[in-house]
Amino acid sequence: MKINSSNHKSHRQVSVGMLSLGCPKTLVDSEIALGILQKSQFEIATSAADCDVAIVNTCAFIHNARQESIEKILALSQLKEKGRIQKLVVMGCLAQKYYHELESQLPLVDAFVGSGDYPKIAEIIDEVRHGKKIIEVGKPLFLYDENSPRFSLTPSHYRYVKISEGCNHKCSFCIIPQLKGLHRSRPIEDVAGEVTRHGGAGAREIILTGQDTTYYGRDFAGKFMLADLLKALDSIENINWVRLLYAYPAHLSDDILDAIRESKKVVKYIDVPLQHISDSILQSMKRAVTGASIRRLVQNIRKRVPGAAIRTTFIVGYPGETEQDFEELLDFIQEAKFDRLGVFPYSYEQDSYSGTLPHQVPEKLREERYHRAMALQQKVSLENNRRWIGKELQILIEGTAKKNRNKNIQADYVGRSYRDAPDVDGLVYVRANPEIKYQPGDIIPCRIREAFDYDLSGEALCDSNHP
Ligand code: SF4
Repeated sequence: MKINSSNHKSHRQVSVGMLSLGCPKTLVDSEIALGILQKSQFEIATSAADCDVAIVNTCAFIHNARQESIEKILALSQLKEKGRIQKLVVMGCLAQKYYHELESQLPLVDAFVGSGDYPKIAEIIDEVRHGKKIIEVGKPLFLYDENSPRFSLTPSHYRYVKISEGCNHKCSFCIIPQLKGLHRSRPIEDVAGEVTRHGGAGAREIILTGQDTTYYGRDFAGKFMLADLLKALDSIENINWVRLLYAYPAHLSDDILDAIRESKKVVKYIDVPLQHISDSILQSMKRAVTGASIRRLVQNIRKRVPGAAIRTTFIVGYPGETEQDFEELLDFIQEAKFDRLGVFPYSYEQDSYSGTLPHQVPEKLREERYHRAMALQQKVSLENNRRWIGKELQILIEGTAKKNRNKNIQADYVGRSYRDAPDVDGLVYVRANPEIKYQPGDIIPCRIREAFDYDLSGEALCDSNHP
């Protein structure tokens, strides 16, 4: 439906499409923005490339993410020139920090909306439809609540729940506090209310996210309250799994680990970005931990949460990183045997403290160290996966194994175990009795038969339709 100049068309006749880039926190913002528009009677299109008003919710935390956001905006600008879309709105982190210079560089953009200003999205689109150019970028203070309207962009069997937004840390390489503002948590009852609603709507897995989820509650209670939140969510009947993301190492305390161990629903998956292991690098990164405290933390996780799957991330090629620092990191990767590991070549960030440091590592060497670290982790991951052969795992079915990323695996379904967060970790391929039909969201016991670098495969142990 094309917007004609008569801007008195009702919202029902205006379709809005969303392209959501970046992290799960930004995805939640996109869902809330679409929820607000749907409540205002706008039609929600399935694609931002085929609608009246296209919105790009951008990411800007590192150079490559900004590049990707700008490429997508330029692609949609071309569609606007061709008349395929009428209006173009840029929201989120890129708009929050760079709207002033982008305004002239991206003339086809009709509105720039900050990472905390999207609650005004319906009014902004009305203004844009009246031909106005809008800059709505304030201090990011907003945090949604359980009554915020929401339009799901994930399969219905899992939902992201943002328990907090913003961050009070000052990690030297990170500009996220400039993009998302200071830390603010949602009350426990509010989070529990939302989780119950998602459970009622068919969600089986709830994924808790924030910039630093272990800082939860410090703002409204003056003390860390994550363990209390996890216990509260454990009593919600209509969900099966609760997965916690983005724990900060210095705050991953015994009471949180004990709450995870004692919980029926919180999966034994610990996502704790560590960033490095060398003391001098950690100090320069302002990470408030040392190599020794990190090693104690990993041991403590494995002692307090037996069977825990640990995911972490490391930055390689950080300013001043010597070959010796890097070798120490490789030794730690070999020693710690993380289940899931993401490695990032250091990204030079102009407005970050680390961007001002001497001894910037040449890009070529950063890339080389990235490949050496990932090659080592590939071996570690296969070794870890082989330990599951013959064992039983509960698998959350994602769907049929039509689109199989591992050509040589024969499977009927694909799913995830407690060791796998969506989109970033491994998959489990499942062979099943053809008479039994499983639905996305079913959680079924499987016997693991094969191990691959990052994935597993096995067979369903159910012999009836009721897992
Ligand atoms: S904890 Fe550090 S890396 Fe993470 S968002 Fe906060 S400042 Fe950035």
